Amino acid sequence: MKLHKIEAGSFHVDGGAAFGVVPKKVWQKRYPADENNFCKLHMRCLLVDTGDRRILVDAGTGDKQLDYLKYYGFEGVINFPDELAKIGYTCGDITDVVFTHLHFDHCGGATRYNADKSAVELVFPNATHWVGDAQWQNFLNPNVREGDSYFSENMLPIENAGKLQKVSRDLVLTNGVELRLFNGHTVGQIAVYVKMAQQTLVYCGDVIPLAANVPVAWLSSYDIFPLDAMTDKQRMLEEAAEKQQILLFEHDAYTECCLVEKQYNKFKVSKTLRFEEITPTP
Ligand SMILES: [Zn+2]
Repeated sequence: MKLHKIEAGSFHVDGGAAFGVVPKKVWQKRYPADENNFCKLHMRCLLVDTGDRRILVDAGTGDKQLDYLKYYGFEGVINFPDELAKIGYTCGDITDVVFTHLHFDHCGGATRYNADKSAVELVFPNATHWVGDAQWQNFLNPNVREGDSYFSENMLPIENAGKLQKVSRDLVLTNGVELRLFNGHTVGQIAVYVKMAQQTLVYCGDVIPLAANVPVAWLSSYDIFPLDAMTDKQRMLEEAAEKQQILLFEHDAYTECCLVEKQYNKFKVSKTLRFEEITPTP
């Protein structure tokens, strides 16, 4: 098995949105903000090459709505064909794309406008694209809060091409790669569990977007159902602490991965890791 991280670009969100009810005086010690109170977030995708399958987890925001979303200050948004070529793959090699959920910063990069902008095409034409069934239903009929984060042109071309698979319960995608469902940030979010030689790597998505969000109550204001978000984050952390699983953060611009521990009933980061320190080979 080989693992690659693919940095798909960065954007900015208000620190108040990133840390919800936590006062800035407290969170600013754990995550920096600029003079406008913006925090820099990455879009860190994961490519798992099992030999038989090449599984991409999340695809960043892509470039279709960059004008509309300019408030977020997107920077360094990648072009997947170029980025994959650097590590020896083509877009056609990707067999599976797993979307943690369908907010634009997670799925937009899997589709693009064709040359004359007359149609939207799939960036990974041979891939089966996986999404939580509840997330898909929410995408089709969004609440007023999430409607702004969903763009039909990001997903309908994939559905229309017959390349979308909906996940309604936890499943084994292939040997060593599991998809598990978590609620709270949105409904039916997928976290990806990759079994490595010694440890399991957890691609947390927006269950825990930043290392600073590890404390259960440190929720983002973008979490639609806060109590569910805390319950399901706790569920992820309990297992991660017990089994010493490695958490991989999609949005953290400064911390790629970490281990967690439970002390006095609270979770905290016990060790930070760079992606390069993870050894996948069984
Ligand atoms: Zn996100």
